Amino acid sequence: MKYVDLKKMIYMDFLIQKERTGSPERFARKMELSRSTFFEYISYLRNELMLQINYDEYRETYYYEGRSQIEILFHYVEDRLSSGSPFPIIFNRTILDKSYYTCTTGSKDFKGAECSALNTHLFVLPDGKASICEQLYWNPLFLIGDLKKSSLKDIWMSDKCLRLANIQQENIGNNSPCKHCNLFTSCFSYRNRCWVDIIKAYGKEHWDYPDPRCEKAFKMQNNLGYE
Ligand code: SF4
Repeated sequence: MKYVDLKKMIYMDFLIQKERTGSPERFARKMELSRSTFFEYISYLRNELMLQINYDEYRETYYYEGRSQIEILFHYVEDRLSSGSPFPIIFNRTILDKSYYTCTTGSKDFKGAECSALNTHLFVLPDGKASICEQLYWNPLFLIGDLKKSSLKDIWMSDKCLRLANIQQENIGNNSPCKHCNLFTSCFSYRNRCWVDIIKAYGKEHWDYPDPRCEKAFKMQNNLGYE
């Protein structure tokens, strides 16, 4: 494509983000483009800018793949959440706004929900074992005791629990940027690195890597973002 009208591109992006484009014919009319030029713009967005743009026949709109799918899911669940629930239902959008690879100041400033593991919570599994996080029940590294054998207080004060809560820089692997990071003490003592995300993004052997929200984080092997 020889010439791209930036104003038109911005307007296209706006309508696609809002998922209010209408059919290809209507979208072309809104953009004041001929049908063939309109499709050149769409190819440009897809092939040159590498944007994942799909078309939904049912809703008659173009939309961005990824985030838009999760937005649809959020709307679906939000519409069905009962306001009269006898207990609080935790369901928030912070998962969409984690701003990966951006934080320069350590875990206290990571965006998204704060991690409760070993700050305020541990989790007791149905078999009596205790884990630092309900999502890491399967990983022996994060099992800190067994209520069939010890009291809750003893588990909370156990060597393993205290060691995980107070990880030292010398225990970090050489391959991790945390090993030589000068924010280590404040970052790890705030305990807001999400082990679940780290393991999901890099694999269980890399539990000591930076949280993907940190600017020093490696590119995720499994992308957790919705963009
Ligand atoms: S490199 Fe590690 S210790 Fe340093 S700020 Fe990032 S997550 Fe924290």
